[in-house]
Amino acid sequence: APAETPQIVVDAHGLPYLNTKLPVQRRVADLLSRMSLEEKAGQMTQAERGALTAPGDIAAYSLGSLLSGGGSTPTPNTPEAWAKMIDGFQLRAQATRFQIPLIYGVDAVHGHNNLVGATVMPHNIGIGATRDPRLAERTGAVTAAEVRATGVPWDFAPCLCVTRDERWGRSYESFGEDPALVQSLETVIQGLQGRADGRDLSRSDKVLATAKHFVGDGGTAYGSSTTGTYTIDQGVTRVTRQQLEAVHLAPYATAVDRGIGSVMPSYSSLDIAGDGQGPVKMHARADMINGVLKGRMGFDGFVISDWAAIDQLPGDWASDVRTSVNAGLDMIMVPYAYKDFRTTLVDEVRAGRVSERRIDDAVSRILTQKFRLGLFEHPYADTRGAAEIGSAAHRAVARQAAAESQVLLKNAGGLLPLKPSQKVYVAGSNADDIGNQSGGWTVTWQGSSGNITPGTTILQAMRKAGGNVTYSKDASAPTSGYDVGVVVVGETPYAEGVGDVGNGHDLELSAADQAAVDRVCAAMRCAVLIVSGRPQLIGDRLGAIDALVASWLPGTEGDGVADVLYGKRPFTGQLPVTWPRSVAQLPINVGDTAYDPQFPYGWGLTTLTRVPAGGERTLKALGVAARAAERSGAREAGRTLVTEARLIVQQKAGATMTAAVAAPFAEADHLLLTGHYGKAVERLTEAYRAA
Ligand code: BGC
Repeated sequence: APAETPQIVVDAHGLPYLNTKLPVQRRVADLLSRMSLEEKAGQMTQAERGALTAPGDIAAYSLGSLLSGGGSTPTPNTPEAWAKMIDGFQLRAQATRFQIPLIYGVDAVHGHNNLVGATVMPHNIGIGATRDPRLAERTGAVTAAEVRATGVPWDFAPCLCVTRDERWGRSYESFGEDPALVQSLETVIQGLQGRADGRDLSRSDKVLATAKHFVGDGGTAYGSSTTGTYTIDQGVTRVTRQQLEAVHLAPYATAVDRGIGSVMPSYSSLDIAGDGQGPVKMHARADMINGVLKGRMGFDGFVISDWAAIDQLPGDWASDVRTSVNAGLDMIMVPYAYKDFRTTLVDEVRAGRVSERRIDDAVSRILTQKFRLGLFEHPYADTRGAAEIGSAAHRAVARQAAAESQVLLKNAGGLLPLKPSQKVYVAGSNADDIGNQSGGWTVTWQGSSGNITPGTTILQAMRKAGGNVTYSKDASAPTSGYDVGVVVVGETPYAEGVGDVGNGHDLELSAADQAAVDRVCAAMRCAVLIVSGRPQLIGDRLGAIDALVASWLPGTEGDGVADVLYGKRPFTGQLPVTWPRSVAQLPINVGDTAYDPQFPYGWGLTTLTRVPAGGERTLKALGVAARAAERSGAREAGRTLVTEARLIVQQKAGATMTAAVAAPFAEADHLLLTGHYGKAVERLTEAYRAA
């Protein structure tokens, strides 16, 4: 506990709201009945911690929340420093009449990514490639444990964006382009929060989660932003009502069922065909926040604005405050204007432009989560779990996630997996760079290249795996005498709009990476790994590449990548987004009429060579369907079967099958099976994992 003694104005102990035996609702009602309008408005205010002009402002403005925002002041870099910082703020909050604790929030979007030494998970796009709900839940649990152990009870994650256009700089924060895929991985909410009824939130290894960004953040049209001709981040999502429901809203219904504690609206505008409103900023959309989210879906948590997002609403400041609160926002991430916000909100209520009922509803929602988190009883950091931050057990989960996220796009002649006896030439800008393999939102908002946090690079992991490896980053070392080349290329870190294509970024490999690929692939059989937040254009170069892997942004555990490269685990990842041939094809999504990508949604070869028990019947059904399509001469259907493919049964697999089952596969070197059989294939994968 902190050494400094707070000045307690009223000893709140003994009042009903502090009675842990009472139900949360009663405690909320009791506390609310005692609070002044100013205190209520304070609860609805979230300030950036670096914005505080004096620490005493926490009590003076009865602030409800603080955050460490992405693009703000440098964050502490040890668990102890985090805990100490937050305890210091909580101590100030104890100097208020009712000693209402702060709720402190951070963006821990792939592990406790603000903290040096934490376990950094693959970004969501990689989790999407795993298609493994149980694993997603475990990554959430590790994140929650590491975050809460530093005194932070609230995480602005997961992003439920359904990314529809990879020119968007936040594509890697998405589980993928298919809402069903996003929904299936919302198990991460249970990992973060625990049980759906909120009863686990007071545990020292759970945090309140935030579904963001409501709604349609992943669907913005290219070039439609108000801030620039190129950016699509924060732009306009143009949809029919049916598309809105099926693609973008569906994941929120799931999140509500899973008991999500908070929701953050999107910076973007929503333009629903035929509703006559034109594009309206989400922070002003009462129909969506009050109507759909809180009304129809029955969301009972609280709505937190995005960073300074109300400033983007049309009209003056008073109108921004009024419009957003009336639209259903419960807490505003101001993040600097905390004094003005509180004053203005109070004025708006006194003038009758915002109802007291609305304020009471907002504050009740916020207090409910604070009670559930146990913050009134334990406002200070419980650091007992801090020893587990970056532990071997936690890193093992990240390693598994990294391995399962690897998508094998091409594997001519079965080049992968590598054998330890092979002499390997490793090159490329992302082979030996923790910062690049972690991407944005790592240590700093934008992330950065280099040795920014402890972990294992892909190169180091290949050496640990026993590989006979020579490394030449720019492929300038002589190339003779090697069995295989492994060229690891891709993107450097970025976050949010700055990553938008046209805004300093494109989907092409850098000149240096292209040169490394060309040089190595001309000299030897080669595998190319693309470490990036989204597909990169490969074009005709594909012909010269023997094996191609989408590695996404695997995080700190390069060992997971080495595991699949050296065959310790099979490749099982599948594309969570369509891999285009060119930028001109974007947006391109499965289900489009003219769908002709380089690799389709769901594509992913496997190096799985044994058919697990129980898999034979599935294979039989798949084989019969594929043959029927072939026989009917339906090239399109046959092609769909192939392009939606999930599974390659290598010829070897035939050996473990009965003759009847094996027959359809007889001629295939590799047979791709698919799509409509997703469930069956999933079961097959499950069976494999269990084996
Ligand atoms: C991002 C949010 C994030 C917030 C706080 C915003 O710029 O859009 O995703 O939670 O900053 O850092």
